[in-house]
Amino acid sequence: MVKRTLITGGAGFLGSHICDRLIAEGHFVICMDNLITGNMDNIAHLFGNDNFKFIKHDVTEYIYVEGELDFILHFASPASPIDYLKLPIQTLKVGSLGTHKALGLAKAKKATFLLASTSECYGDPLAHPQSEDYWGNVNPVGPRGVYDEAKRFAEAITMAYHRYHGVETRIARIFNTYGPKMRLDDGRALPAFICQALRREELTVFGDGLQTRSFCYVSDLIEGIYRLLMSDEILPVNLGNPSEITILDFAEKILELTGSKSKITFKTLPEDDPKIRQPEISKAKKLLNWEPKISLDEGLKITLEYFKERV
Ligand code: UDP
Repeated sequence: MVKRTLITGGAGFLGSHICDRLIAEGHFVICMDNLITGNMDNIAHLFGNDNFKFIKHDVTEYIYVEGELDFILHFASPASPIDYLKLPIQTLKVGSLGTHKALGLAKAKKATFLLASTSECYGDPLAHPQSEDYWGNVNPVGPRGVYDEAKRFAEAITMAYHRYHGVETRIARIFNTYGPKMRLDDGRALPAFICQALRREELTVFGDGLQTRSFCYVSDLIEGIYRLLMSDEILPVNLGNPSEITILDFAEKILELTGSKSKITFKTLPEDDPKIRQPEISKAKKLLNWEPKISLDEGLKITLEYFKERV
């Protein structure tokens, strides 16, 4: 029997990679997106495939899908700080109302539900590295609160649907991920630095650049998502690459890789910008036999080729 799978946010960066992966696994994939941050170019190659269907829909409204569903992966949401600052209400709505609708559909169809959650649940963390049992340090009323709290609510309602309605659920806490199909203008450090380097503009490092992130290449992340989906783990699982780097070193790495002569300029650090971030992934290692395989240098090379063709 062919598995039938709905991916909300399926035209986004991660969603579109999941569409590809699940089609390769033999699923019939229904990709749903309202295209506010998603992009049809990411899924254009799938049109004409008999195992692919696209529905333009805002998942904060009632979701109608004909026929059976085996899996629902809820990836719809603005996900870069610039996007969710521009779209605060939509971000809150898709994390809350959208997750509610997607869970309701999972309950009705008896489908397994996977929530794309985030390391932002840990906020500006006081624990380092961040493991799943850390409850976080989130400012609910700060500018990032719209994303962080929506995702924290999403986790809570996912657990409630599991406990109260018996829905099969999974929660992936996704850390910084990069690769082809990232939007050039999504404002995140990686696309910003690569575009600036290629355009010979100054690289805009926020604050002193000593804040850290840990970047995971997209194929590694998708492998983790797939393994989690196929597992029976209900509680959250961190997925990310533990190799940590300061943003200043990261900017210098991009300059080296592109051979760009651009200078680095320092700009004001956005409010509530986490100072450190590194996933603790022993749970995923043990449970899913998963860990990232692609080094930052390897992943950046592939990503750079994608950006070069588009800048
Ligand atoms: N950042 C930066 N310059 C930019 C964009 C981002 O220095 O042009 C910093 C940002 O302040 C943060 C880090 O890079 O400390 C990662 O930011 P990003 O927007 O990629 O994602 P986040 O991990 O904060 O969600």
